[in-house]
Amino acid sequence: MPPSNYQGPPEAWIIAIGNELLIGRIVDTNSAWLARRLTFLGFRVRRIVKVPDEISDIVEELRRAIERASVVITTGGLGPTYDDKTLEAVAKATGRELELNDEALRMVAEFYSKKNLPLTPEREKMAKLPRGSKPLPNPVGAAPGVLLELGKDKIIVSLPGVPSEMKAIFDSHVAPRLEALAPPRALWECSLIIEGIPESTLAPIIEEIARRNPTAYIKSHPKGHEVMGPVIDLRVLASAPDESEAKIIAESIIERFYNEVIKLGGKISQRTCGKPS
Ligand code: ATP
Ligand code: MG
Repeated sequence: MPPSNYQGPPEAWIIAIGNELLIGRIVDTNSAWLARRLTFLGFRVRRIVKVPDEISDIVEELRRAIERASVVITTGGLGPTYDDKTLEAVAKATGRELELNDEALRMVAEFYSKKNLPLTPEREKMAKLPRGSKPLPNPVGAAPGVLLELGKDKIIVSLPGVPSEMKAIFDSHVAPRLEALAPPRALWECSLIIEGIPESTLAPIIEEIARRNPTAYIKSHPKGHEVMGPVIDLRVLASAPDESEAKIIAESIIERFYNEVIKLGGKISQRTCGKPS
């Protein structure tokens, strides 16, 4: 039983920034991806907000978010062009100056020098961060992510809009930091080695089961040949406040996969469950 003053999981807000989202030119898949990751880590996502590339709109939502959430993640608007205004808005919403950050400048300069391109003022802009921020290396693109701590249990993280960049920075630099803010979680992992079913046949089933189970992380690793003798290593990692709950989640999901595979005429050559190492 949690203590009576237990406040529940810490709150997270996601702010997706970009005019393109509001005119319907692109679908905000970044927020959905982030929401799943944050939920898995043990946060309660309470708002997903979309705002245009306007400083006043971004500041308004950031202020609301900072007031309530422990974790605020923004995506989009970190690039070199004039319409990329996220960091200016974060600086304004938190009452800080934007200043050239040496570490960020090194990251940006290195990215362009590898491509034999000079450091122009537009490129340098990506290294101007709200005072006190930490740049997060971007292994895919030019703009570093930005992490700003406000006190010891509140942070704002700004990530690029390009999905591959956003995901890479989140998984390597943000998730490990958020684990310290998240409530203690227990993990339980189950896996199946599935023979005789192409990964593409299993894909929609994985998709559907994953959608229904936001506190589990489901991944398939193809081992054999897609059609001629397919072998798939399917892994389910569940996260919950305690181990017995994580166990129930992971094992019921793996049971569901087991039944689906048998129905499709596949074979299970190995089934394991345990605490992930
Ligand atoms: P860049 O350095 O490329 O300008 P950025 O951080 O400024 O990156 P944006 O300019 O906001 O990002 O978006 C770049 C591209 O990323 C968009 O054209 C779009 O294709 C994609 N993108 C942006 N936001 C999202 C989102 N919320 N969901 C999915 N894709 C997005
Ligand atoms: Mg941009």
